[in-house]
Amino acid sequence: MDEIRIENLEIYAGHGVFAEENRTGQPFFVSAVLYTDTYKAGKEDDLQYSTHYGEVCHFMNQFLKEHTYKLIEAAAEQTARQVLLRFPLVKAIDLEIRKPKAPIGLPFETVSVKIHRSWKQAYIALGSNMGDKEGYLNEAVTKLRQNPLIRKVEVSDFIVTKPYGGVEQDDFLNGAAKIETLYTPYELLIFLQELEQEASRERLVHWGPRTLDLDVLFFEDFVSDDKVLTVPHPDMQNRDFVLKPLCQLSPYYMHPVLLKSVKQMLSELKDRA
Ligand code: ATP
Ligand code: CA
Ligand code: CA
Repeated sequence: MDEIRIENLEIYAGHGVFAEENRTGQPFFVSAVLYTDTYKAGKEDDLQYSTHYGEVCHFMNQFLKEHTYKLIEAAAEQTARQVLLRFPLVKAIDLEIRKPKAPIGLPFETVSVKIHRSWKQAYIALGSNMGDKEGYLNEAVTKLRQNPLIRKVEVSDFIVTKPYGGVEQDDFLNGAAKIETLYTPYELLIFLQELEQEASRERLVHWGPRTLDLDVLFFEDFVSDDKVLTVPHPDMQNRDFVLKPLCQLSPYYMHPVLLKSVKQMLSELKDRA
């Protein structure tokens, strides 16, 4: 990915653990690498296809003056997040904040925190088999779209499927969504669980009827076998109601553990059936 670089932007601000630092302030030096595609702007010689580094500098200056953090870790975290939200062509950012006048009481050149943050691609399975199923799924999609930490929501068609897991119950309506998010995988899970709660879901029987079920299928190439969050979803390769909608969105997306594409997993599942 191409890079737009800002080096040592000087910002006078009040970040620090001591009240004295918050009151009088001191210089901070901010460096940023904005990861973005500059090809079209370069070819057309037109700023509308790029990110204005001047605007980014003014934005970071204003943000770091208007907010006061105890830690430069927090200042960096919040600034990186705000730049990613405010400048949509920036896919990822390296952000370093140096604090050369930090009150250490020893001679030193500078201290700094440097972080890398980015929009992450994730896939979610949607299911409902109680009440207004389509309404529950559409409501969930609307709430995904309304969350500022989620963008570029693409949704598959919804398909009617027979229940899974041997519990006697109504047919399911299933779908999948592709998103980009600034959440961590665990934060995304918590948000999805909030949406399930808001759909007045009650967990009565495992694999039993529910108004809304939202599972994390993939989260970039993140892999976890934790009980709270297992990613990729451990049973997806055995579920056509997951693979079919997913295949409509991204047939060539690769499972990071099985090293098979969605399309390949679906065709192998059909062969086994
Ligand atoms: P399955 O995961 O087999 O489809 P389910 O969706 O019916 O079953 P739930 O009762 O909705 O299971 O969730 C049980 C627990 O699974 C949740 O509390 C959650 O912490 C955990 N979990 C683990 N991995 C994931 C994941 N990838 N997505 C959603 N929940 C997960
Ligand atoms: Ca599920
Ligand atoms: Ca679930």
